[in-house]
Amino acid sequence: MKIFCIGRNYIDHAKELNNPVPSEPLVFMKPPTAILRANKPFYHPDFSDDIHYEIEIVLKIDKNGKCVNEKFASSYYSSVALGIDFTARDIQKKCKEKGHPWEKAKGFDNSAVLSEFHPLDKSKPVIFSLNKNGERVQLGNSKDMIFNFDFVIFHLSKYFTLQQGDIIYTGTPAGVGKIEIGDVLEGYLGEDRVFRCEIK
Ligand code: ZN
Repeated sequence: MKIFCIGRNYIDHAKELNNPVPSEPLVFMKPPTAILRANKPFYHPDFSDDIHYEIEIVLKIDKNGKCVNEKFASSYYSSVALGIDFTARDIQKKCKEKGHPWEKAKGFDNSAVLSEFHPLDKSKPVIFSLNKNGERVQLGNSKDMIFNFDFVIFHLSKYFTLQQGDIIYTGTPAGVGKIEIGDVLEGYLGEDRVFRCEIK
């Protein structure tokens, strides 16, 4: 199983971190050991003092594909989950400065919170949000993505064979922020709470 992630896929989030808006999807990956199933606590690692939450829609790939035509990309997924792409922003900053890869900042253990998957109604945008300690801190709408689900699949499959069960974190809207021990993060797909993650 592969875990793909798309960075800077919402203009407002790229701007809040003073990053340029990409002209093609910014792609990175996490290892399978990054998955933290919904409702399990996240134990704050001691290698970072600045771990940020990033709420994201997660797509699951239903069938194998290579060089998928964008026109047919929607037949490769039928369900979505919500996830958090935990990011050690201090380590990421150092990696960027040195021109090094991001893996230590993005792919560490339990850095990919993942809810259950839910059937996707492709006729409607996906509205999603994250609450921290009961207050909404991020609100997203899939129609605001720079690169939509179909384009992301088209693009990824040029480089990587997509396999059934692979998942794609599709980027975060604005409002990312630092987590502290004791925080409770709750993800909502529409009105439905799909995960709760306590920081320990
Ligand atoms: Zn992200």
